Amino acid sequence: MDRKLSRESLCVQGGWQPKNGEPRVLPIIQSTTFKYDSSEQMARLFDLEESGYFYTRLQNPTNDAVAAKIAALEGGVAGMLTSSGQAANFYAVMNIAEAGDHIVCSSTIYGGTFNLFGVTLKKHGVEVTFVDPDADEETLSAAFRPNTKAMFGETMSNPGMNVLDIEKFAKVAHAHGVPLIVDNTFATPINCRPFEWGADIVTHSTTKYMDGHATAVGGAIVDSGNFDWDAHAEKFPGLTTPDDSYHGLTYSKAFGKGAYITKATAQLMRDLGSIQSPMNAFLLNIGLETLHLRMPRHCSNAQKVAEWLEAQPQVAWVNYPGLKSSKYYELAKKYAPNGTCGVIAFGLKGSRKDAEEFMDRLKMIAIVTHVADARTCVLHPASHTHRQLSDEQLIQAGVAPDLIRLSVGIENPDDIIADLSQAFPR
Ligand SMILES: *Cc1c(COP(=O)(O)O)cnc(C)c1O
Repeated sequence: MDRKLSRESLCVQGGWQPKNGEPRVLPIIQSTTFKYDSSEQMARLFDLEESGYFYTRLQNPTNDAVAAKIAALEGGVAGMLTSSGQAANFYAVMNIAEAGDHIVCSSTIYGGTFNLFGVTLKKHGVEVTFVDPDADEETLSAAFRPNTKAMFGETMSNPGMNVLDIEKFAKVAHAHGVPLIVDNTFATPINCRPFEWGADIVTHSTTKYMDGHATAVGGAIVDSGNFDWDAHAEKFPGLTTPDDSYHGLTYSKAFGKGAYITKATAQLMRDLGSIQSPMNAFLLNIGLETLHLRMPRHCSNAQKVAEWLEAQPQVAWVNYPGLKSSKYYELAKKYAPNGTCGVIAFGLKGSRKDAEEFMDRLKMIAIVTHVADARTCVLHPASHTHRQLSDEQLIQAGVAPDLIRLSVGIENPDDIIADLSQAFPR
């Protein structure tokens, strides 16, 4: 039923369709465990022979309803929630890669993901080659190795706002027999659905626009069901050969298009346990109910603010894909014709100190380590989120040292502009 509804209706009603006499609002199933009449039935659940709930670390009905809503919004076949966006990206990769493997990743990605892949995965034996996402297909192809298991990018990168050419990435990934994983946090499925352009798996930090109110940290993974694991069986033995921890069950045979998410739940969530709390899933669901109303307002506000910024003499540069001057204007028109998101990257003329003083003078706009919620906020990545990166890594990640990340909220845009204006250096 879900997939026939429009995105707007899915935001409001997807995932939870109560039966006669059941709660109209998705209930919080605040229970770690579930009761069964017979020990044999419980055993069948443990063997994955029957589906059902038994322990919230693996699955919970509130979480599953919200995951189903996000999967429907993305046009995927299955989804799962995680405790954070970091956990989502970690699971998305580790579900198909292990020590001795390699992934190819766009260099213009969120600082936390850059660190996760470049430092922590490396310690776990998975090597990453970071590539310039604007490079041509040949250059991207050259980064692949026989042991490459996935390609990764962000629809719009945090914080540089580079727009990914998803079709180009998908083509290169598929030519090497691996799936394309796209972090769609900034665009959200309201503005772009990566599966329509060839991506195979989508991840989210639901902490951002999906929750939308800065109340709950969370993540999500959605599978398109389009990648044929069996056609590349030798690359993905975890999905295509028997799992000893489930008495020799083979995910691709037993679960078909549900194989990837089932494996991520049954193995990674079971063993690593980065579950989202049902309470947070409930809050996320309330956020999702207005996602389709908030995103257009974030975009129209940001467009107005970006155009204003571009006209100010104190501003050195502005990167917002909705501006004609943007290198990504054409790609944004193709992949997100209704707008990208509310995040603007810009630099002020003058020193780093001028930028810091400008931020300190803001009144309504707050300095916070957050992005993509209802309230306009600002951050200087080189001193905050991306502090751990060297200057060279900053440039590689698309983060100029003077870059100010302005996350435009859904207030009246005139108030946002007035606050920026009074804070500007004179
Ligand atoms: C914030 C963010 C993450 C990490 O998400 P958390 O929920 O903070 O763990 C991953 N990717 C992108 C694009 C983000 O903006």
